[in-house]
Amino acid sequence: MERGDHKGKKKHIPVLAEKLKRFGLRATPQRLAILEFLEGNTSHPSAEEIFRELKPHLPSLSMATVYGTLEVLRKEGEVQELTIDPERKRFDPNPKPHNHFLCRKCGRVYDLPVDLSALTLPADIEGFWVEIFTVDFYGLCPACKK
Ligand code: ZN
Ligand code: MN
Repeated sequence: MERGDHKGKKKHIPVLAEKLKRFGLRATPQRLAILEFLEGNTSHPSAEEIFRELKPHLPSLSMATVYGTLEVLRKEGEVQELTIDPERKRFDPNPKPHNHFLCRKCGRVYDLPVDLSALTLPADIEGFWVEIFTVDFYGLCPACKK
């Protein structure tokens, strides 16, 4: 399962198993594979994509396990759930706040290195107390723009 969008060294399986135990989950091969797949993955996969990628290696994998594991990882702050794609939720194992770009042609979601720290809003807008806001970018990626 070598993919270009994995970077850095994979954590050892015992480390991932320990993590699952900390989250109250039994370290099954299915859940370990999901964690391993997500590690360093910058392709922002949907639950369906994760399932499709892992299923050939793990015939016993179910969609319910993928959904259930992602939900626990989200609650534990291990993955971000992205809403940039109106067609499906995407998951990002990078917990740091950063911006995303959805290409309207190829449908890929990229990390967009843009600094929005200069963008400020008043926290109180006519009585609405803003605690969080997100900015998503849409257009054509460098490959599709050619
Ligand atoms: Zn594109
Ligand atoms: Mn990202």
